[in-house]
Amino acid sequence: MSAAVEHRGPAPTPAVLAPFARAGGRALMLGHVHPDADVLGTLLALGQALETRDWRVTYGGPHAAPAALGFLPGVDRYRACAAIEGALDVTVLTDCPNPQRTEGLIDQARRAGGLVVNIDHHPDNRRYGDVNWIDVSASATGEMVYELLLALGWPLTPAIATNLFTAIHTDTGSFRYSNVTERTFRIAAALVAAGARPALVSEWLYERRAPDALAWLGEALRRVELSDDGRLAWLALPAGALPERFIESEELVNYPRSVVSVRVACLLREQGDAVKVSLRAKGDVDVQRIAAQFGGGGHANAAGCTLAGGLGEATPRVLAAVRAALAAAPGGGRPVP
Ligand code: AMP
Ligand code: MN
Ligand code: MN
Repeated sequence: MSAAVEHRGPAPTPAVLAPFARAGGRALMLGHVHPDADVLGTLLALGQALETRDWRVTYGGPHAAPAALGFLPGVDRYRACAAIEGALDVTVLTDCPNPQRTEGLIDQARRAGGLVVNIDHHPDNRRYGDVNWIDVSASATGEMVYELLLALGWPLTPAIATNLFTAIHTDTGSFRYSNVTERTFRIAAALVAAGARPALVSEWLYERRAPDALAWLGEALRRVELSDDGRLAWLALPAGALPERFIESEELVNYPRSVVSVRVACLLREQGDAVKVSLRAKGDVDVQRIAAQFGGGGHANAAGCTLAGGLGEATPRVLAAVRAALAAAPGGGRPVP
């Protein structure tokens, strides 16, 4: 066999491996608010690997797993929890840049003892752990947990492989976004070799719409608006305009993003007395910096924030910030094709 060049991120250091070295510990796999497939897939994968080493593992966070991710192996063990009970040796957080995104559960976990291990790929990670492993070159924390299991020498089961494959699949937009690297495909190949089934994961993620979903999608798409110069597209959803379960099961921001001239896309969802904003870019503008202006965060091309108040106030504020960022970008965010 030829010596292939290995494109790997920074490998986990001994300090990252040490908390997991013993057998039979107690671990909490702690998720962030509104858990997605990257956080759930990695917590489940690492927890399942620990369970094969006789660890007692609990899985939970401030919100339950969405029904659309009910196919992730072992996700039935993941609970919405208000309180952390019992003593702990290790608390693991993945994909969680800011401890506030546990809604106070991390403080309870610290009081339960043990070490907080922070595994993340967000550039704005606050390094709140006792051990912090941050790799911004990873497309998903799914890549990192794969590297961790490899470094620990623990075998991948089909369930672990499926959880990690789905984490990477979703954070890369099905291997389409600019965060995809050669390493992403190498890891994906290893996960398929270990039992992940790409066609099945795609079917579970994208081919299981409810019968009424296409009508709701039509309703959503009719509301997409485009700026005069075509660089900015947004979708503003007043409270109750569409069913929550429908919004949760779609990446609606991808539709305004898909317009050829668009450099920044924005989804604004009114929820109670707040507006949740999702921002997406194509490399011209750093939307994480826009989200940060409103107390949010994320990645350069995918970020989010929450504004207090209604859509009427939030929409002009967010759009003005995006317009300012576009105007400041080289070439005003590139000429419209
Ligand atoms: P979303 O638009 O909710 O899919 O989130 C895209 C990215 O932005 C993810 O990496 C999130 O972690 C991050 N993000 C979303 N909302 C917030 C927020 N309120 N505060 C910090 N980061 C956020
Ligand atoms: Mn996440
Ligand atoms: Mn992620």
